[in-house]
Amino acid sequence: MLVVKDLHVSVEGKEILKGLDLTINKGEVHAIMGPNGAGKSTLSSVIAGKDGYEVTSGTITYEGEDVLEMEVEERARAGMLLGFQYPVEIPGVKNVYLLKAALNAKREAEGLGEIPAPEFMKLIREKLAFMQMDASFLQRAVNEGFSGGEKKRNEILQMLVLEPKLAMLDEIDSGLDIDALKVVAKGVNSLRNEDRAVLMVTHYQRLLEHIVPDQIHVLMDGRIVKSGDKSLALELEAQGYDWLQEETA
Ligand code: ADP
Ligand code: MG
Ligand code: MG
Repeated sequence: MLVVKDLHVSVEGKEILKGLDLTINKGEVHAIMGPNGAGKSTLSSVIAGKDGYEVTSGTITYEGEDVLEMEVEERARAGMLLGFQYPVEIPGVKNVYLLKAALNAKREAEGLGEIPAPEFMKLIREKLAFMQMDASFLQRAVNEGFSGGEKKRNEILQMLVLEPKLAMLDEIDSGLDIDALKVVAKGVNSLRNEDRAVLMVTHYQRLLEHIVPDQIHVLMDGRIVKSGDKSLALELEAQGYDWLQEETA
């Protein structure tokens, strides 16, 4: 589904990704871990096509297509979706409108018409219940005053409504208490199927008890320096990243 090869990316003239390789197959969930400033957010931002990143060499292909030749909207239409990491607060715009507009944009790209209001409300209520979110959430202005946990639930809600083929979730466990963590994990697990993939950045092994990834990658200094299964997260939890730094050097 996604193949990243020897990717080099600079931000404001500084090289952040320094030859990153990553392959994600359909049906897989991959977790990226690594110290602050390693380039984790940069990776998903570049894949999604955010501004401000200069790809100096390397390739990204998605379902055989050259992602770097695709506009941001084309990437979204092709099913690649990055959840907001630090969602901007847009005072006055209700959450429900944003969700509906995003869904209708997706439907339009698929040649479907706007979703009828009753159908939309049915869908959204079902997903809200699944995420253990209150319906009043819909009427709140987008992320205005949302707690960390609410923002994350909202991000997963968006994923459940839009059903991307490649869901990218940055800092998925930041600011979550145990209960919210379980709900977020439940949401991500429900996204899993043989046609979809998930790329998520996590800091804690704890999350991986609830979402068991197919692969874990350690991103350090702009490269994937180690990949493994769930046991790698336990090793990292116990030993931190320093031993890898030495091993890689
Ligand atoms: P991570 O998500 O792993 O913590 P990031 O991808 O956010 O790391 O950042 C990697 C490096 O790139 C950091 O040193 C950060 O300071 C730098 N960086 C990221 N975005 C910008 C930006 N817009 N302008 C300048 N430097 C940036
Ligand atoms: Mg290189
Ligand atoms: Mg980050």
